[in-house]
Amino acid sequence: VHPSLRRELEAVVGADHVLTDPGLRATYETDWTRRWRGSALAVVRPGSTDEVAAVLRLLNEARVPVVPQGGNTGMVGGSVPRGGEVVLSLTRLREMEPVDEAGEVTVGAGATLTAVQEHVRPLGWDVGVDLGARDSATIGGMVASNAGGIRVVRNGTMRAQVRGLEAVLADGTILRRLPGMLKDNTGLHLPSLLAGSEGTLAVITRVRLALVPTLARAVVALAGIGSIGDAAALASRLRRRLPTLVAAEAFTAEGLDLVVHHAGLAAPFSVRHPAYLLVECAGAADPLPELADALEAEAAGMLADVAVGEDEATRRRLWLLRERLTESISGAGIPHKLDVGVPVARVGELAERAPQVVAEVAPGAWVVLYGHVLDGNLHINVLGLDPEDEAADDAVLRLAISLGGTISAEHGVGVAKTRWLEADRGAADVAAMRAVKRALDPRGILNPGVLLPPE
Ligand SMILES: Cc1cc2nc3c(=O)[nH]c(=O)nc-3n(C[C@H](O)[C@H](O)[C@H](O)COP(=O)(O)OP(=O)(O)OC[C@H]3O[C@@H](n4cnc5c(N)ncnc54)[C@H](O)[C@@H]3O)c2cc1C
Repeated sequence: VHPSLRRELEAVVGADHVLTDPGLRATYETDWTRRWRGSALAVVRPGSTDEVAAVLRLLNEARVPVVPQGGNTGMVGGSVPRGGEVVLSLTRLREMEPVDEAGEVTVGAGATLTAVQEHVRPLGWDVGVDLGARDSATIGGMVASNAGGIRVVRNGTMRAQVRGLEAVLADGTILRRLPGMLKDNTGLHLPSLLAGSEGTLAVITRVRLALVPTLARAVVALAGIGSIGDAAALASRLRRRLPTLVAAEAFTAEGLDLVVHHAGLAAPFSVRHPAYLLVECAGAADPLPELADALEAEAAGMLADVAVGEDEATRRRLWLLRERLTESISGAGIPHKLDVGVPVARVGELAERAPQVVAEVAPGAWVVLYGHVLDGNLHINVLGLDPEDEAADDAVLRLAISLGGTISAEHGVGVAKTRWLEADRGAADVAAMRAVKRALDPRGILNPGVLLPPE
């Protein structure tokens, strides 16, 4: 970064928060999957909204591109530099206001999900979205990527949790609407526009979250089942019977093998099943009798083994078999992570055909898939490929589109999927997105190369 710009940045955030030393920059320059990396001019860590605004004003003036970064747990390369940008780390913006009576709370964009959960849970409230990266993922990053996670079937994605927000445009203009009102119908809803914008339209600095009530009693069941398709079909039927259903996750035998091997967890059953379905029900009263009845009515002959967790420790143990999959897959190599979605009725077809289309173009590759089955969302992880080799990505993303689905159910487009955006969204949608981008960030400094393909 030019010495005079560096001095100006230091005058705003303090010299300790402008990192140019390669050793200090390193963790900001590589993403969680290790597939995406690049060198930054500097890492700048503002401590307030006004500092974010001042930093953006300087960078916009100097036409220096900016990569906003939260917890850097994103999966599509949108949170790390490609080369020559300033990384704007938001993790110092972590102050949290008190929860109000209506169950809303305003938090800094850099607060981690775990910190917010710990802030609100003692008061009987919870954050509607939960995900395995909770200890590092930030609320701002979760809004910017419109994260999904393991409670979408109950509470929707991150977009649905946002009641208001504060954000800074590329030129330093601060947008602030933190209303504390359920109904607010005064034109375009900017939080919706920024949810899923992946750092390309504005930098989110504070978020007003609508919380959900904590559910006192929970039960988790893990069952061996014949296939991912069977798991999706059964989960759909359970949903109809179980108003208390909060999560339905599925994974395959290969995934469980990896978790047992890499995370050192004990296998849940003595027999290996082709696939596994994990469901959680929660409510004010014990949901176990209702879950047991529903399984008996809907799952006759489908389930080989069922393990039930009623107490917190056993529930946690069953969940870990699913949650530690992500890191266990990364323990086996650098995966190409293809987070695709299809209508729920086609999940089985996607699960069967994805390994076939990968085998056709990349015979040496290896597929491990799992997903949030009721969201129609499978994570297709392809191992054994060069980071640059996109033949398998192409095959799987085109398969998802051909099944009436999407190239990204929850991770976003990032730099990983810009090539396929138009095939998914169509030229008119992409043109509309470009027009919004140009209007809000005319110099194109915010996360160039992310979300929108080069013109
Ligand atoms: C173990 C594990 C499990 C995961 N499980 C899920 C899951 O179930 N569901 C799911 O959806 N994702 C999941 N993820 C992916 C990831 O955690 C989410 O995408 C999360 O929302 C990213 O938050 P972050 O703070 O780490 O953002 P980052 O990775 O830092 O950034 C993500 C994107 O948002 C932008 N951004 C970040 N902060 C801001 C801001 N304040 N203003 C503007 N733009 C910003 C970045 O530029 C980037 O484009 C998982 C990741 C891991 C490692």
